[in-house]
Amino acid sequence: MPRFLGDDFMLPVLDPLNTPFYTTGSLQMQFCRACDAAQHPPDDVCFSCQSTDLEFRAVPGTGTIESFVVIHHPIHPALRDKVPFAVALVSVDGADGCNVMGNVLGAEVEDVAIGKKVDVRFEEVTNAQTGETLKIPQWALA
Ligand SMILES: [Zn+2]
Repeated sequence: MPRFLGDDFMLPVLDPLNTPFYTTGSLQMQFCRACDAAQHPPDDVCFSCQSTDLEFRAVPGTGTIESFVVIHHPIHPALRDKVPFAVALVSVDGADGCNVMGNVLGAEVEDVAIGKKVDVRFEEVTNAQTGETLKIPQWALA
């Protein structure tokens, strides 16, 4: 899937904490092995119990829109053909308390609403500078 906003936009710099999220093609959330809390973004320490025994687990890739914003003004010339578009904050099923932000792909902005169910979609892109293939999570209305 080509990137919704175009391939010229910056890509995340991969590190051990974000590589599962951006490269696996499944929605990977970080969980604490000590207390089973989920957290996002990933960190070296559990936000709940301060354990450092953390792991990534795949979750179903579904969620609910908690909030969203509609972008009307193209702050970059490359966005001129993309507006209006919606960016949603999604509570992720299977990872209580975790929200993931992403563009809402393939929807009219009038159809985006708080409480609507969404499914993850992955935008695959190869970083020309590093050769790394990323699979960036975005959302689509279910
Ligand atoms: Zn914990």
